[in-house]
Amino acid sequence: MADKQEKSIPSSSKRARSPEGSHEAEINERPPKRQDRHEDGEHPQKQQDRYENDENPPKRDNQGTDESSRKKPPLTYSSAPDNLDIWKPVLEDHIAEERRLGRAINFFVECSPHANGGSTCQLRSCFEKIEKDDYRVAVEPGMFSQSRADFYHVECFEKLADLTREKYLNRLKPLSRNNLIERNAKRSSLMNGYYLLDAGAERLVTQWIFVMRKLIAKRDGTDGPKSEDPKLHDLLYQSGSAKFTDAEQPEGMTDFEFRKLQTTLAPIESDGPEDDQEWNLFDLFMTITGDDEICEEGKTTLGSMLETWRWCWTVVNLDEQRLTEAGKKLKEEWGEKCIRAVKRLSKIPMPDLDAISFPDEW
Ligand SMILES: [Zn+2]
Repeated sequence: MADKQEKSIPSSSKRARSPEGSHEAEINERPPKRQDRHEDGEHPQKQQDRYENDENPPKRDNQGTDESSRKKPPLTYSSAPDNLDIWKPVLEDHIAEERRLGRAINFFVECSPHANGGSTCQLRSCFEKIEKDDYRVAVEPGMFSQSRADFYHVECFEKLADLTREKYLNRLKPLSRNNLIERNAKRSSLMNGYYLLDAGAERLVTQWIFVMRKLIAKRDGTDGPKSEDPKLHDLLYQSGSAKFTDAEQPEGMTDFEFRKLQTTLAPIESDGPEDDQEWNLFDLFMTITGDDEICEEGKTTLGSMLETWRWCWTVVNLDEQRLTEAGKKLKEEWGEKCIRAVKRLSKIPMPDLDAISFPDEW
């Protein structure tokens, strides 16, 4: 099964924003409209309404506000293009201020809004905008202003924050219907699905964090993440399989979430009970496994995973007339089951509008 799946999906792809030779550049001009990927009937928002106040992060020079000037080391691009040795302690100091700020500092993995010119990546050595529809990390509150998030390409953030350390990993959160009230952005935008991850990215990031915890425990000789309740475990990893017919609702889980996990978020796609080569999201896209020997700082396994996933759903969701010959061939190779799975998982699971409530101060 694994062999066949390996052949069905590329093992890697170059970053979509890479100017030279990426598969995506060859196949399509840009990712499909984000709005098209929302679950049917769940996303009434118009594209032109998708702007938000926090989409203009502070410039990366020393002309900022008093607050940003206070935090920024006196650096220039020309003298030290990477500056990671300086910026890493700045991030460390920032999270150490959590108690003083009276707010949790989170690293949200989220999606750059479609109707957005592209945020500036705050890694000093990066000169590329974060494209709309690309994945990004929002550090919130930001290092430069408490009222704004700082944005990074996922790969750039992995260079800055050592996600193989719990103090950083514990702050990493896939932004979804379940935690959107923690994100300090416009409520209406969040409720309309802006920034929320699609189902595939949500499952992959959550799984990546889980596996990374296991690797950290192995490295440090500490207790790993607790085993899940068997009902939850089956629901998380068997949903979508034709052989998994007796899903049980874990205690405390809402009917809404139970349904979502069995449908939009299911990691498996099957052709039926006779299918012995079911498609599995994790087998195909995860860049780390619990069997890995080491978790290495600076390896951008989260960013590369999301990049491959993004490229895959971009190709799958493109109109036929926009596909190049190479793109058509790829889709043919991937097959109908894979395309069905990727289309389903590229949708954004929307929040339960009846159940969600924001804090009073919003
Ligand atoms: Zn960047």
